[in-house]
Amino acid sequence: MPGTTPYRSRPVRCLYCENPLICAHCGKSFLLRSQAEHDSFYEPSAPVRCPHCSRIVRCRYCGATYSGSEDEYEH
Ligand SMILES: [Zn+2]
Ligand SMILES: [Zn+2]
Repeated sequence: MPGTTPYRSRPVRCLYCENPLICAHCGKSFLLRSQAEHDSFYEPSAPVRCPHCSRIVRCRYCGATYSGSEDEYEH
């Protein structure tokens, strides 16, 4: 695909506590795998879902939920 910039997957740090962001639900590292995921992660208007368990990401260390502007809770 000419013109497509490869995106290197990399671990992300929690926006709140700056520890490596690990999903509290499944315990796996949260990775950004594309520019689109990168943009949505830093765009606070949309919930960020874990690529492993597809639940809304919650930081294992500080408990922050990346639910964007919506008050969405999962049980
Ligand atoms: Zn955190
Ligand atoms: Zn997960």
